[in-house]
Amino acid sequence: MGKEVRVRFAPSPTGDLHVGNIRTALFDWAYARHTGGTFIFRIEDTDTTRVTDEYIQAAIDTLKWLGLDWDEGPEVGGPNGPYLQSQRLDIYAQWAQKFLDQKDAYYCYCTPVELEARREAQRAANVAPGYDGQCRDLTNAQITDYKTQGREAVVRMRMPDGSTTFTDEIRGDVTFDHKVVPDFVLVRGDGSPLYTLAVAVDDIMMKVTHVLRGEDLLSSTPRQIRVYQAMGVEPEDYPTFAHLPFVMGQDNAKLSKRNGEVSIAWYRERGFLPEAICNYLALLGWSPGDDRENVTMKELTELFTVDKVHSSPARFDMKKLEAINGDKIRALSPDEFLNWSLPFLTKEAIISGTDAEIAVVKAALPIIQERIVTLAEVPAMLNFLFVKNFAVAEDCISKVNDEAAKAVLSRSSTELSKLTTWTHDSIEAALRSSLIEELGLKPRIAFSAVRIATTGSNISPPLFESMELLGQEVSLERIKLALSL
Ligand code: GLU
Repeated sequence: MGKEVRVRFAPSPTGDLHVGNIRTALFDWAYARHTGGTFIFRIEDTDTTRVTDEYIQAAIDTLKWLGLDWDEGPEVGGPNGPYLQSQRLDIYAQWAQKFLDQKDAYYCYCTPVELEARREAQRAANVAPGYDGQCRDLTNAQITDYKTQGREAVVRMRMPDGSTTFTDEIRGDVTFDHKVVPDFVLVRGDGSPLYTLAVAVDDIMMKVTHVLRGEDLLSSTPRQIRVYQAMGVEPEDYPTFAHLPFVMGQDNAKLSKRNGEVSIAWYRERGFLPEAICNYLALLGWSPGDDRENVTMKELTELFTVDKVHSSPARFDMKKLEAINGDKIRALSPDEFLNWSLPFLTKEAIISGTDAEIAVVKAALPIIQERIVTLAEVPAMLNFLFVKNFAVAEDCISKVNDEAAKAVLSRSSTELSKLTTWTHDSIEAALRSSLIEELGLKPRIAFSAVRIATTGSNISPPLFESMELLGQEVSLERIKLALSL
């Protein structure tokens, strides 16, 4: 029997989590759930100049909102915590000291200016730029001299000659010649740890068995393996690596964090459902072996295996995501749709949230459920039911105040006031027999005037249902108003 699977998602929240992060988180989560293993959520916040408390909280909220529940991590705790790297600084310091004692690492006194000058020379000589090992074997006298000069020292890991090979579950065997992996910094001059030290120490101490992450981190793997070796970890206890292919933009350029459209918060605000985002991202770079477009979270956990992850980059397609979102909206139960819609309506002050308003929303939602792609469309669709000072939209006025429209509206007014039952069927029957059959008008022309008069615009939910919801009195009042324009 293999050991229990432990997978981690370890973002550095230097901004809102983006599409690429969440695709990684989703695959990590799905792999843990598929194997009955443990999903660890670790916050890599050692870069205090870029990570903020707000971004950490936002990352936690985003994972919760998406339904990616974790077994160990912030808020839930666990036996291998703390799960915020900023609370583990003494652990990294102890390991760094051990590496120094073992001579796996050494103090380096080179200043940034000196390093840059030497890199420049390397580039000029066509040598791969990187640390040249100047401080590897300093004498005591040299060290004393540097200290007297008041130089700050970083802790640097010694990279032996040779190469590192590891098996990536997606790419197969990957080898890095150490000529391209120079000695690297573990601890900064101010004593703070670098990512490579913290990530490697934590993956070992948290007993992580599988590292599934973005391919941008592929080249940091040999450095992490070097840290495992210095920690005395046996190769069979190294985590298994799987580097997920990039998510590219439509233009084939890499999607970037600085671009607002990749942040998950952006999608949330624009009315995308978490199930739609998860469904879409799950199939971005992975497929269960068929060409399905829909996958539920349950199916994902049942079917997810790393060997079905593609090795080539995936292209993000907004249109596909929108189509999936529309499908997921149509699949919501009336109560679910109501609960998702209300915050959008209150945020735009379409309703204040009284029981009477909610009852109207509840009655109106079924008529728009088939027609919208995102929840952000709900306010504009239902505004006509709640608007206080009703007026026909500027750009539609010309369509209701010409001769022909006036004729349509006055005939409609006459017929509709005669109705004793006010349902979409009775409204439709009355308007069809008078406007279409008797006046011989084309439905598009006849109904467009009535639509603009009653809802204020030419984009609205189905007309007869809308008028039923508005009620006879209000509908007639609005037609009268249009006639007076
Ligand atoms: N914290 C790293 C990042 O957000 C990822 C760490 C990892 O998955 O190894 O880029």
